[in-house]
Amino acid sequence: MHIGFLGLGNMGGPMARNLLKAGHRLSVYDPSATAVAGLAEAGAQPADSPAAVARAGVEAIITMLPAAAQVRQVYLGDDGLLAHVPAGVLLIDSSTIDPMSAREVAAAAARNGNPMVDAPVSGGTVGAAAATLTFMVGGSEAQFQQAQPILSAMGRNIVHCGASGNGQVAKVANNMLLGISMIGVAEAMSLGVALGMDAKVLAGVINSSSGRCWSSEVNNPFPGVLENGPASRGYSGGFGTDLMLKDLGLASEAAKQVRQPVILGALAQQLYQASSLRGQGALDFSAIIRLYRPEDAT
Ligand code: NAD
Repeated sequence: MHIGFLGLGNMGGPMARNLLKAGHRLSVYDPSATAVAGLAEAGAQPADSPAAVARAGVEAIITMLPAAAQVRQVYLGDDGLLAHVPAGVLLIDSSTIDPMSAREVAAAAARNGNPMVDAPVSGGTVGAAAATLTFMVGGSEAQFQQAQPILSAMGRNIVHCGASGNGQVAKVANNMLLGISMIGVAEAMSLGVALGMDAKVLAGVINSSSGRCWSSEVNNPFPGVLENGPASRGYSGGFGTDLMLKDLGLASEAAKQVRQPVILGALAQQLYQASSLRGQGALDFSAIIRLYRPEDAT
């Protein structure tokens, strides 16, 4: 299949490579010449604008962009995708953006005669490279069926979450919970150790008891508990604090629109904001534990 791909960053780059590995032909665009050159070397056809991708004879286009502003610009801009793409071409946006913007862009695509799904991911850069991402897909059943074979070259779990925008709904709800649960684990681990417990023993108890969760088991924030986790290498790598902040911002924005209280989500947002202000924005979000254990801050 001939596919267009826009946004070849930390996530999009490896995702596009996996499409090439699966035998698809790619036309790619990114404002970063280095990003485009890397994909061209791997066998993709470079394009010099979104319009050029739209007119390259592609059957589907995938976007993996930083935020809603870029998604709007790339799809709805005067020289954007919708102004140039032929009707019938499937559009897939895998960027993490707010559900309302996703629905707005998909509605504009529908008026243009283009089926469009929102398909944000979880699994991070490791999942992007290994083609083990989870895709949360919003769109009609027919659109999901059309997108599924393409997405399965880049991910392991492709979940239909319901109508347009619901992929983003699932993503913001999950990441808000993740942000909250990490703070809970950081607080509980810090308390237990301050009261005299060994961190590894405490983590072992939590992970075989009712407090167990991904943040305690797979990404425990306490240094030394998981030999290969971000906490044991100064919180480098992993899922950045500023990316978590972005997702919590999306959750509270979306919540405001339906007047839904997100009390812990808003508190978590403020705590990650404080963590970012301390210079931890690029560190794994589990570095939030340093708010409880200042002696760890180096
Ligand atoms: P990134 O900043 O590494 O990559 C974004 C890419 O988009 C860059 O190469 C940039 O040059 C390109 N871009 C910017 N404007 C563009 C435009 N107008 N047209 C085409 N390309 C443009 O970001 P990332 O880490 O790859 O994240 C992409 C999306 O995936 C974000 O929405 C992010 O929230 C989400 N996400 C990231 C992770 C992660 O762990 N990094 C995990 C899950 C979801």
